[in-house]
Amino acid sequence: MVVFKDYNQNQLMLLPPSLEELIEPNHPVRVVNEIIDNINADTLINQYEGGGTSSYHPRMLLKVLVYSYLCNVYSSRKMEGALKENIHFMWLSAMNRPDHNTLNRFRSDRLKNVLKEIFAQVVKLLVESGHVSLKEVYTDGTKIESRANRYTFVWGNSIKTNKAKMSVQLQQLWDYTQSVAKEELENTEDVDFKKIDSQKVKQTISQIDTALKGKKIDKKVKQKLNYARKCWPENLQKYEEQEKILGKRKSFSKTDPDATFMRMKEDHMKNGQLKPGYNLQISTNNQYIVNYSLHQNPTDTTTLESHVERFKALYNQLPEAVVADAGYGSEENYTIMQNAEIQAYIKYNYFDKDQHKTKNTLNNNLYYNKAKDCYYCPMGQKMSFIRTKKRITENGFEQTLSMYQAINCNGCPLRGQCHKGKENKIMEVNHNLNQLKARATELLKSEKGLYYRKKRGVDVEPVFANIKYNKGFKRFLLKGLCKTEIETGLLALAHNFAKRCA
Ligand code: SF4
Repeated sequence: MVVFKDYNQNQLMLLPPSLEELIEPNHPVRVVNEIIDNINADTLINQYEGGGTSSYHPRMLLKVLVYSYLCNVYSSRKMEGALKENIHFMWLSAMNRPDHNTLNRFRSDRLKNVLKEIFAQVVKLLVESGHVSLKEVYTDGTKIESRANRYTFVWGNSIKTNKAKMSVQLQQLWDYTQSVAKEELENTEDVDFKKIDSQKVKQTISQIDTALKGKKIDKKVKQKLNYARKCWPENLQKYEEQEKILGKRKSFSKTDPDATFMRMKEDHMKNGQLKPGYNLQISTNNQYIVNYSLHQNPTDTTTLESHVERFKALYNQLPEAVVADAGYGSEENYTIMQNAEIQAYIKYNYFDKDQHKTKNTLNNNLYYNKAKDCYYCPMGQKMSFIRTKKRITENGFEQTLSMYQAINCNGCPLRGQCHKGKENKIMEVNHNLNQLKARATELLKSEKGLYYRKKRGVDVEPVFANIKYNKGFKRFLLKGLCKTEIETGLLALAHNFAKRCA
């Protein structure tokens, strides 16, 4: 005989269970609840001006958002649904049911200036409980795609090319007018069309129109003039506005002007397609995120300074050591770290190659005489200092290069291997960078350095893997640098909570 357990949906309970009883003692939702209850939410509460109808409590909304990100729920409509169906959400919100608009407004507006501080408070609590240390941090970056449409690009180089074409065509129109109506243009000053703007184009076309009035004009010139009158001022105005948005960048997206086109490693087409996105930089310790920053520049090298400054702003202190890969090993970054008294366990390009280099390669075995400031080439020829050269990096950092030249390379049997130029060999040496590299090598090869190098791969890299593959966060939901930063902050908090619960 088959026996079924009692199943009666209409059975009433004398004492219905509370939500509190239904939640497991060590469930992650309890950790989120407890930690957020322990942070100081004054700055968040101060965002509210008062007046009007009552508002949902910001601490409750913050808990709901962080827990949603922890559960891989990023859409405000899905959060609204969870608040009606999921007992963990219902317990966290104490049965409050803010709708998706309220949740979205809270995420986009109220958290704008306060999330960084909340994040810092949570990390400080983790430091106090011994889960995290702020002494050494592992830094790395990844690109996260923007919400923007993938095919709405504006390229800085196209703007430059179009403007240059316009300059040339305007000059041609002007030259034609001078050849046909020289007398009418006699009183006008010499015009330079190398730099043009909408105002200048309008003025020039009006001058040309006046000069050519009543004259018999070539059909093609007439067409070009009509087109220029109709489109050029408008196009130039558009280019000026786009150049303002571009700033120092090379591209942006029309549907998210803050996003820059970057090469994404996990491109589904596997063809290295450029997509609009942001460069996310994080610092971790013990696989917890202790610092995050979003950048519009795709190169990691140029992001380290502002990333470290942000660390200082969050904790009012700097880390003692920064461990990063060769993407950060530049003269500028080494100098910044040295000035801030941070030990930089950062490889430079060719660090690994330098460790295995054979002693008899030509260019690596030049002897340097410091007292005389000259080199001796493998043929024993003196290479004297000739001049210094300055180079400015993308971030405005000035590099000084010393140039050395051999006296006579004619007839040298090693010339084919040594250099390809027709002149005597000239060599550029960055002495400051060489010193910084030597210091980096010393640190990287020390006992601590070897430990940090090993740990880097299992500290910061798995965090990206967790965010992108476990949490499925490969594309932002919101648009604009400010809002995507909020999303990053929530994601970082959710990651830390999940790690704390693990
Ligand atoms: S080519 Fe000039 S610099 Fe090179 S080994 Fe010969 S002499 Fe020296």
